[in-house]
Amino acid sequence: MKIIDELQGAETIAIGGHVRPDGDCVGSVMGLYLYLCKELPEAKIDVYLEKPAEIFDCISRIKDIKTEFNNKITYDVFIALDTVPERLGDFVPLYEKAGKTINVDHHVSNTGSSDVNVIEPQRSSTAELLYELMDAEKIDEQIAMAIYIGIIHDTGVFRYSNTSPRTMQIASELIKFGFDHSKVCEDTFFEKTYLQTQIMGRAVLESMRFMQDRCIVSVVSRRMMEFYQVTSKDLDGIVNQLQSVKGIDCAIFMYETGTLEYKVSLRSNGRVDVSAVAAKFGGGGHVRAAGCTMNGTYHDNINNLSIEIAEQFRNE
Ligand code: AMP
Ligand code: MN
Ligand code: MN
Repeated sequence: MKIIDELQGAETIAIGGHVRPDGDCVGSVMGLYLYLCKELPEAKIDVYLEKPAEIFDCISRIKDIKTEFNNKITYDVFIALDTVPERLGDFVPLYEKAGKTINVDHHVSNTGSSDVNVIEPQRSSTAELLYELMDAEKIDEQIAMAIYIGIIHDTGVFRYSNTSPRTMQIASELIKFGFDHSKVCEDTFFEKTYLQTQIMGRAVLESMRFMQDRCIVSVVSRRMMEFYQVTSKDLDGIVNQLQSVKGIDCAIFMYETGTLEYKVSLRSNGRVDVSAVAAKFGGGGHVRAAGCTMNGTYHDNINNLSIEIAEQFRNE
């Protein structure tokens, strides 16, 4: 299937991604947006997303993203990328009233409830999957860079086990377009501000191991975020750093989002299915990377997560 075949006759098209957009989400929505603007010059095409982190300012036309919408508008097609429609945040109403809905995603927890569903959990990223839905001849340097950003962010720059031979082939095709792929990796993935590095250091310093040192957890409070003058966008990468510790099967990182409310990120080396753990608390994701929002004190949350993880250890 090619995405364009599903858009025949559509005059208005909206593209959206998940709340707290990550690199795959931003790269995917922008890659598709740039592609469709070229392919369907007569159509009205809009992108709806929470404001992305500044590191993504290198993506062409990123400022076209709309963070609010007019209630009077109804789109012929809404395309939800890298998420189940429920995580489109403020834009769920736009999705719900669209004439036709399309969902392109790679999350194993996504069961596909749109009119057209392209859900392939073996894909490294939604961006990789989108590449397959595009006509390779119609891709240009700017589109290629956006897709490449999506792929590198969800594979940890080709490091995680979701990287397949096909991922590498696609990346190879993409870098032929000539953008500075090394700079893109450095500027959007590896580079951290001093404050980001400091709070990561603090989170690692205060982490604790438990369950025979097979699990590790760290928590960042609102007060800590205020002290270091950081927002949630500055906490990316901390959970991966924790998971890199030798001997760890499951890493948990949580930060306070409100009174007795925490955003939880889970990572594993494959011995724990963290998607299943997150699903118990209303979240989801992949076997090795998942997330959810939990209510309660962080002690309660660690206890409740531990019960689910211990259950999986028992079944080993
Ligand atoms: P994070 O820890 O937020 O970086 O998320 C890890 C993976 O789990 C990503 O693929 C997310 O899209 C997914 N994920 C995170 N939170 C949720 C949630 N509440 N529901 C479904 N998937 C989630
Ligand atoms: Mn994502
Ligand atoms: Mn993704």
